[in-house]
Amino acid sequence: MLYQSTRNKNITSSASAAIVKGIASDGGLFMFSSEENIKIDAKKLMGKTTFDMATEILSVLLPDFTKEEMRSMVERAYKGKFETDELTPTVKIGDEYILELFRGPTSAFKDVALSILPVLLTASAKKNGIEDDIVILTATSGDTGKAALEGFEDVEGTKIIVFYPENGVSAVQKKQMVTQKGNNTFVVAVKGNFDDAQTGVKNIFSSFSGTEGVRLSSANSINIGRLAPQVVYYFKAYSDLISMGDISFGDKVNFCVPTGNFGDILAGYIAKLMGLPVGRLIVASNANNVLTDFFETGVYDRRRPFLKTASPSMDILISSNLERLLYLSSGCDNEKVAKYMKALNEEGSYKVEEDQLARLKEEFYADYLDDEATSAVIKNTYEKKGYLSDTHTAVAIGVYEKYKNKTGDKTPTVILSTASPYKFSGFVAPAIGLKKNENEFEMMRELEAETGVPIPSGLKNLEEAEVLHTTVVKKEEMSALVERKAKEKVWTR
Ligand SMILES: *Cc1c(COP(=O)(O)O)cnc(C)c1O
Repeated sequence: MLYQSTRNKNITSSASAAIVKGIASDGGLFMFSSEENIKIDAKKLMGKTTFDMATEILSVLLPDFTKEEMRSMVERAYKGKFETDELTPTVKIGDEYILELFRGPTSAFKDVALSILPVLLTASAKKNGIEDDIVILTATSGDTGKAALEGFEDVEGTKIIVFYPENGVSAVQKKQMVTQKGNNTFVVAVKGNFDDAQTGVKNIFSSFSGTEGVRLSSANSINIGRLAPQVVYYFKAYSDLISMGDISFGDKVNFCVPTGNFGDILAGYIAKLMGLPVGRLIVASNANNVLTDFFETGVYDRRRPFLKTASPSMDILISSNLERLLYLSSGCDNEKVAKYMKALNEEGSYKVEEDQLARLKEEFYADYLDDEATSAVIKNTYEKKGYLSDTHTAVAIGVYEKYKNKTGDKTPTVILSTASPYKFSGFVAPAIGLKKNENEFEMMRELEAETGVPIPSGLKNLEEAEVLHTTVVKKEEMSALVERKAKEKVWTR
C-alpha cells in the first residue's frame, strides 16, 4: 500500500519510507491513498490481547513489515514498559468510560506511540537501506517532548532535539525534559509559543542544508509512524466494553477526545474507516477553540490570540493533522487540500465547501471548555465519582456533558484520558480545594496525601533530579542550532 502527500498525489512513498521522512517533500503529510486498503475484520480482534491487536492493526497500516516482524517490534516496544501489558485500561465512572492512556513511562498518552516509533523508525531505515544517522526534530507542547526523549534515549543510529516553548509547559513537564539522560538527547527552550516551535521545526525540514551521513525525521504526529499506533487503543476500548457486558459487537460507541494537533482523534477516525463501529467523534478543545469554530462554520481561522490555559498540551492554533482529515473527507482530493493549506499559510484562514462540512458534521461534534469550567469538572468528577482527572481529560469530560445535554445522545461513550493528574498538580490540587502553592512538586505530594492516588513512579523523584539541559534560543535561531548539532558527530554537554 502506498502513501501519498495530502497535497500532491504524485509524491508517493512506501509506509516505511514515509516513517523515515516524517513529512512529504512538499510540506504535505503522508496518508494512505484509499480507504479500501485499510479494512480489517474488527470483530475478529475483539477479546484479543493488546499486543495481538497492535500486531494485526499495524500490519494493515504499515504493510512493509511481515506479521512476525511486527509482532517482534510490538513486544520490543511495549513489554514491561507500561503499568500493565494491557497498556491502556478502560475504567467505568458513572455512565461513562474513561480510557486511561497515561499508564506509560512519562505519564502521558504520547507514550503509546512514542514507545514504538523508535523501533519502527530504525527498522524502516534498515528496510530502505539507509545507514545515515537520523536526527529527530520535535516541537512539543509539553508531553511529546518527554515521551520522545524517553523513547529515543540511546537508540543506536538516532539523535533527538526537542524544542519546547520556554514559558508554555508545566513545571513538571519542564523538569521531566531538562533532566533527560542519554548521549543522543538535546533539549532546547524556545522564546515563543508552541506554534512558533512547531512552525520552526516544519521550516527546518525544507531549509536544512544537509550534512553528509545525517538525515532529519520527525517524532510529531505529522509522522505516520506516530499516528498508526494510536489506532490500536480505540479497538482495545471497544473490546473492553464488550468484555464488561455493556455492548455487543456492532453497537455504536462514541469517543470524546481532548484535542490539540488532531492526531489522537484522527486515529479514532482511522479506526472507524478500518471497520470499528464508531459513532460520533467528539472534539474537545480548551479556550483555544479554533476547531470548535471550524466544525461549526467550516471556516478555519488561526488569526486569533494564542491563549495559555491549564491544559497546555492543547494550546494550539494550527492543528496539523486536520489536514489529513480534510484529505480523507474530500475523497483524497490533494489539490483541494493544497489550496486550503496555501490559504492557511498565506492568509491565516480557509473555508471548506458546504458538502464537505456537512459530511464532517455527521462524523464529528466539537465544543470547548475554559479553565474555570475545567476546574469545576475536576472538582465534581472527584467529589461525585471519586475519579481524579487531569486538566486535559477534564476538558473532555466537560465537553461530553455539554454534548449529552445538547443532543440527548445516549450512545455509550468513551472519554480518552491523556495525562496523569500529577503532571498538572498546580491546577488539579487547587481545583479539588487544596491550598495553591507555587511549588508544583509540593502540590503533588499534597494531592497524593489527600486523594490516596499514588504518584506515578516516573514523576516521584523528579524534583531532585539533576538539570542537564539549559539551552534557550529565539525562534529565528532554531535552524542554525540544528545545522550545528547535525554536524557534531558525538554530542557532549
Ligand atoms: C498531546 C496531548 C493532547 C492532544 O493530542 P493531539 O493528538 O495533539 O490532539 C491532549 N492531552 C494531552 C495530555 C496531550 O499530551
